[in-house]
Amino acid sequence: MSTPSWLNAGQLVLASNNKGKVAEFETLFQQLNLPVEIIPQGRLNIEDAVEDGLSFVENAIIKARHAAKISGKPALADDSGICVPILGGAPGIYSARYAGEHGNDAANNQKLLEDLQAFRQEGQAIEGMFVCVLALVEHAEDPLPKIFQGIWTGEILDAVRGENGFGYDPLFWLPELGKSSAELSKAEKNQISHRGQAMQLFRQSLTQI
Ligand code: IMP
Repeated sequence: MSTPSWLNAGQLVLASNNKGKVAEFETLFQQLNLPVEIIPQGRLNIEDAVEDGLSFVENAIIKARHAAKISGKPALADDSGICVPILGGAPGIYSARYAGEHGNDAANNQKLLEDLQAFRQEGQAIEGMFVCVLALVEHAEDPLPKIFQGIWTGEILDAVRGENGFGYDPLFWLPELGKSSAELSKAEKNQISHRGQAMQLFRQSLTQI
């Protein structure tokens, strides 16, 4: 296979303004050691795209195209969130604005706790999963975005726990580790998380070049 043009371009725009995500990507990309400069879209003053898709895949592609269009460079977007099957998959693609205001983590966590109250039963865990879809486009009209998806299953706690991470991390319980996602170090989380899994697939795709 030939080297993809985004690698030759030497720069890749990271289509996210979420500080928590950008920090995780910076670590994940350092490990990849690619000959590419990763530029968070905020450094190019690119505002968030209007996410009007109905799935993580659609929104990831919308964000990547938006950043590629404005920057004129290849772009990688992450659309992610938490899905709770007992709530029909909510918060899902609306995770960032579940309680109304975009990016208000405390309010989003509070709303999730309230929405789950009616479903709580003694001794029964509530299943949840973090989902991450990465979309990579060579240019704004790329007809063949590369898609990498990670799913991280766990349980939803009935109170916040832990100080690390961002978003719903303090409510995401990992029974096999006896910790919430907000009690993991950055390195521990990156190794097993939805984003870490998607990045692993991205890394594997590079070895097939
Ligand atoms: P997006 O930026 O539109 O993809 O929204 C992502 C939202 O999902 C974030 O604002 C968080 O609320 C949530 N989320 C995604 N990944 C994580 C994670 O790794 N930990 C905690 N919350 C996450």
